[in-house]
Amino acid sequence: MPYLHQPEDLDNLLEGEPSYRADQLRDWLYRTSVLSSTDMTNLPAEVRSRLDPLWPFDVEAEQSADGGTTRKWLFRAPDGAAIEAVLMGYPRRATLCISSQAGCALGCTFCATGQFGFERHLEAGEIVAQVAYAQAFLRQIGMPGTPDHLTNVVFMGMGEPLANYDRVREAIRRMIEVMGMSARSITVSTVGIVPGIRRLTDEPWPVSLAVSLHAADDDLRSTIVPINRRYPLADLEEAAAGYFEKKRRRLSIEWTMMDGVNDTTDQATKLAAIASRLHAHVNLIALNPTPLTEETASSERAIDAFARELGRRGVNVTVRNTRGRNIDAACGQLRLLVGKPGLKPRV
Ligand code: SF4
Repeated sequence: MPYLHQPEDLDNLLEGEPSYRADQLRDWLYRTSVLSSTDMTNLPAEVRSRLDPLWPFDVEAEQSADGGTTRKWLFRAPDGAAIEAVLMGYPRRATLCISSQAGCALGCTFCATGQFGFERHLEAGEIVAQVAYAQAFLRQIGMPGTPDHLTNVVFMGMGEPLANYDRVREAIRRMIEVMGMSARSITVSTVGIVPGIRRLTDEPWPVSLAVSLHAADDDLRSTIVPINRRYPLADLEEAAAGYFEKKRRRLSIEWTMMDGVNDTTDQATKLAAIASRLHAHVNLIALNPTPLTEETASSERAIDAFARELGRRGVNVTVRNTRGRNIDAACGQLRLLVGKPGLKPRV
């Protein structure tokens, strides 16, 4: 389906067809959302067959966990690039975690995607097609006890969204202006591309910003998040504060808990100071270890102690549950497992 074309440009794609066809197609792609072109019932079969080769990826594999309320897809683009997305259902929320790049160049030591290196940027259409696919899935197939539409989209899948700024920006524009999603329901999560945060600050949309911090001093952070050497903590904090000032959106700090690495009282103390200055909410999540990473997850006890230390210092903190642990839902992991027993190829 033609997500690789600008939604405003679909008339050119349907040359020779009456102009209302482009409106109908735009509606199917961005408003109704469909799993296949056969669902576009008011388009003639001949038009639908012209659209089929334009679908930006195939669904190569899918996994389901947590009683059917977590679903992970591995999409495959025609050039072989792997694209992963995870849908998480809750009683009043359906959150989709999407990828912005195939692979990632930033090499964070604890991240499966980072260990693969960088394949390529995803196009805006490839990003937005993940959203449309999940919308269609919720509407047509559904998840138990979950709304029939997406309530949140988070850029926390494969890749660093602010390293692919222009395409991510165009995907966000389409989600807001064409699909009708609220800016607040979209979260851009960055590991700290400072110029990207500054550009995002100047955009018209108050999207939510999450900073994947993982360490609260430069020495440790530069070891596990190498981009910190280029954009150290002071610069990152200044850019994040600028975002908060301009947008008045509460920031989130993401913190992957790694045993003996960043779960110490010293790190909690330093993190509490940063979070307080930024008025940020801290989300703690245990590392989902992969065969490619050396770090292991903090124990429940260590996570509780860390959370208590933050709370004692007046920081709002949430310990996130690790959705999809039994399906390797950490992004970058699904493609590790394609072809292994237990993974259900999509038919
Ligand atoms: S954590 Fe994010 S920025 Fe770091 S390597 Fe993984 S995908 Fe890239």
